[in-house]
Amino acid sequence: MRYNTIRIRAHGGITMNWLRNFMSGRYGTDQLNLGLLVLYLALCVLASATNLILFNLIALIVVICAFYRMLSRDHYRRSQENQWFLLKMQPVFRWGRQLRQRLTDREHRYYRCPGCRQMLRVPRGRGKITITCPRCRTVLTKKS
Ligand SMILES: [Zn+2]
Repeated sequence: MRYNTIRIRAHGGITMNWLRNFMSGRYGTDQLNLGLLVLYLALCVLASATNLILFNLIALIVVICAFYRMLSRDHYRRSQENQWFLLKMQPVFRWGRQLRQRLTDREHRYYRCPGCRQMLRVPRGRGKITITCPRCRTVLTKKS
């Protein structure tokens, strides 16, 4: 009985060591890998919605890329890729931040200028107001 317990523990230790050795020096995960995972899930949804094998194929390539990056030992290149990704995603992050701000802001109303697409913010509850765009001087009348 006691002998068995010791054996199981030793076996578990070997598995842990193997895993530790296998994972040591590997790059692991970052924002780009998280992005790839999101893309993978989106492709899976697309594949089941459209029944197109092409989406399954792309999803498979995406998940292989994610694993390759995770297990890679070339940290420099992987972090370069991640930096590139973060740079490219900046407009998306900014848009998300702005959207969240607009949805939680109870004190202002937001309008897009029809002349130059600039976002305009006005205080709420002032009745009918005339807004002059500070960038292109387009005048619009809105109910705030
Ligand atoms: Zn404007």
